[in-house]
Amino acid sequence: MSDAELPQSTEPTVQDDFEPVPVFEEAGDMDLRPGADNCYKCSVCDTSCPVAEVDDDFPGPKFQGPEQWRLKRAEDDVGIDDSIMSCSNCMRCDDACPSGVPLSQMHNTARGAYVDEQMSKLSREYVRNRILANYRSLAWVGSKVPRLTNAIMGNSLVQKLNEKLLGITAERDFPAFATQTFREWWAERGGPQVRSDEKRIAYFHGCYSNYNTPEVGKALVRVFESFGYEVAVPRQRCSGTPMFANGMLDDAERAASVNVSELSDLLEEGYDVIASCTSCSMSLRQEYPELFQLSGVEEVAENTWESLEYLRVHEDLEAALEAASVDEQAFAYHAPCHARNQGLDRQAVELFSEVDGVKMEDVGDSCSGISGTYGWKEEKYETSMQIAEDMFEHMHHADGDVGMTECPTCSMQMEHGTGYEIKHPLQLLEDALV
Ligand code: SF4
Ligand code: SF4
Repeated sequence: MSDAELPQSTEPTVQDDFEPVPVFEEAGDMDLRPGADNCYKCSVCDTSCPVAEVDDDFPGPKFQGPEQWRLKRAEDDVGIDDSIMSCSNCMRCDDACPSGVPLSQMHNTARGAYVDEQMSKLSREYVRNRILANYRSLAWVGSKVPRLTNAIMGNSLVQKLNEKLLGITAERDFPAFATQTFREWWAERGGPQVRSDEKRIAYFHGCYSNYNTPEVGKALVRVFESFGYEVAVPRQRCSGTPMFANGMLDDAERAASVNVSELSDLLEEGYDVIASCTSCSMSLRQEYPELFQLSGVEEVAENTWESLEYLRVHEDLEAALEAASVDEQAFAYHAPCHARNQGLDRQAVELFSEVDGVKMEDVGDSCSGISGTYGWKEEKYETSMQIAEDMFEHMHHADGDVGMTECPTCSMQMEHGTGYEIKHPLQLLEDALV
């Protein structure tokens, strides 16, 4: 049976010699990265928070992090404030804090504790969030009959029912499933076409590149093979990003156990881990080691890269692109918040600005507002669109009507607000080099 056909159970496959152990039994017993007590109340995090900027009811990251933390430590029986569910997990506050306070880790653990202990498992919000957080399970079923699923999910009556029954906004078009997943393509192709003992990468494609935009995964494979890399496509689960954002830490840990186990095996064979989605790389690099004690988790974090980042460091990508030319195109580029957190926000603009025929325009440093599952929630839709206003405006003023970003849900928001076609940087790299 090929990997593409493997049963997609939500149960983890773990190595026999370790058990996943949750780090935090409860919110008051967290093992935070250093800095939890370093908050000097400067409020820089609050001014960087896109949700606080448009939602007067949201108390902001300082309250969600250090203030609740202190309160919780002082009074054991105090609960987590329900506003934690209004944090979109964009992680901009984490990046902005000058004092190294582990804000996103505090938010993730507080949200996990809130969902575990205070949220009714029968509530509409919990059921909706669980469905959104486990998009991969939904996509696995839907992609078995993609045309039928697309027709059903694209029906406006179904969208209205989704909103009424589940609280998933009817304002957005459900992303279409590809007629052939990336993994099916990979299996049909017969796996890697290049073999190498020296240059090896394990591709973490994530859910969206597999089920919705396999062209991104194909571009990655072709670009890396053109540089002489042997590509492996390991068995994998969701990176966990939508699970963290919805406080579903048990689901995230099950997924992380499989991912870390599979990727650890490949690290031993000399592979580096490459993601095409910046939220996936963020998850593997930062959230896994912050939240889970899993054998190999630090090694996976240390050897995970975003795709362009890896090529820029390991190959002379600039020289390769100087010699390339593509049909004249202008792009409005948006850097995802999770790319910013990894210091990758300028790389696509810097890289492609020199390519003959390409005009790249950075549309500013605003958040796209959708933040994964956040903008899909009926009650968050308007907030999500208000946050995105700056980005939409910059896109409309930019030359050209093609957008570019590394994040699948930012790309949904960009398309939703402008009607532009949105590409991943790997697709331009493929056009230029392969
Ligand atoms: S930016 Fe950091 S130090 Fe300043 S208030 Fe926020 S958490 Fe505290
Ligand atoms: S993660 Fe984003 S939405 Fe949440 S508190 Fe920080 S800046 Fe605000």
